[in-house]
Amino acid sequence: VLGLYFFQDTIRLKLLGYSNQSINKIKEYNLINYIIKKNGYSKTFDKALLSNNFVKNNKDIYYKLDYINNNNYIDNINDLITIGYKDLNLIFKNLDNKEIEQLKNTNYISNINDYLDYDYLIINNLNRYNNYKKSHPSLGLDTIITYVNIGLDKPQYSNINNIKNLDNKLILVNKYNKLASDYVPKDLVKINSKYSAKNIELQKDANDAFYKLCSDASKEGLDIKAISGYRSYSTQVSLYNNYVKRDGISKADTYSARAGHSEHQTGLAVDVSGSGIVWDEFANTKEYKWLITNAANYGFIIRYPLGKENITLYKYEPWHLRYVGIDIAKDIANKNLTYDEYYIRYLNK
Ligand SMILES: [Zn+2]
Repeated sequence: VLGLYFFQDTIRLKLLGYSNQSINKIKEYNLINYIIKKNGYSKTFDKALLSNNFVKNNKDIYYKLDYINNNNYIDNINDLITIGYKDLNLIFKNLDNKEIEQLKNTNYISNINDYLDYDYLIINNLNRYNNYKKSHPSLGLDTIITYVNIGLDKPQYSNINNIKNLDNKLILVNKYNKLASDYVPKDLVKINSKYSAKNIELQKDANDAFYKLCSDASKEGLDIKAISGYRSYSTQVSLYNNYVKRDGISKADTYSARAGHSEHQTGLAVDVSGSGIVWDEFANTKEYKWLITNAANYGFIIRYPLGKENITLYKYEPWHLRYVGIDIAKDIANKNLTYDEYYIRYLNK
């Protein structure tokens, strides 16, 4: 009689989809009734059974998990359960191998699933997100992740990243991202003297776009001119130091970049005047009004907008344009984001 029961169990397990080898393991781990009650096949459970690291206590979690073909899958499951994670489907669905490794090296995060929707999530920043959320409870998770990824949970000019892809036209230069001191763009071109107050250079693409912008504006009776473009690292050193001498460090930092952190060193940024009106007064010109609606059509954004000082870490600079190309400039204008935010969410892949 006992033999017949065993025989029937084997048939039932086989009908569920388990191989003889798996059935032997099921018997060895004393899980026949468990499987018969489940009344279904789980490939993840099966792979765990046949691995060298089946953990009986984890059986329910194995059973529920979609299978992923990955040599470390069962190890990863066991490790994540040890840390405290139980709901693993979303984790494996959203994170790649490298991110799973990072997650294994991070303290347990109880609300991990809330974060997994965001593809600009950086696993190594999870603890920073949670800390920032505690000090900024009214901010949404999208904002929390964006700000922390920019670096805004740390003081300006800390945790500085040295920019590697220096010739990328979409480069992000800010108080957390630094250009090499010897970086000079390869294709600097002088701005046409019609649209330039003195000898000013930009990268060729930016220069072509700027020429088109200025000439179209002039057809509407507007007078837009460059007053500053490419600036070398050493120029920025003396410029910043002079401002510090005049106003002190904390004030100078609100309007002048430290050397290596200026967009002007990329040759993709240009400061403009309107009918000869410069700096703060430029915001009141008809030229500025025109730029607000038209700059994106030429690939330029207003890089340091009003009301975004807490993100850009610069005061409002209506005169400072940055070239990013037409498609991205339009997208940024539509989304009403700063370049810092946009870069983190859409370009930092
Ligand atoms: Zn500028």
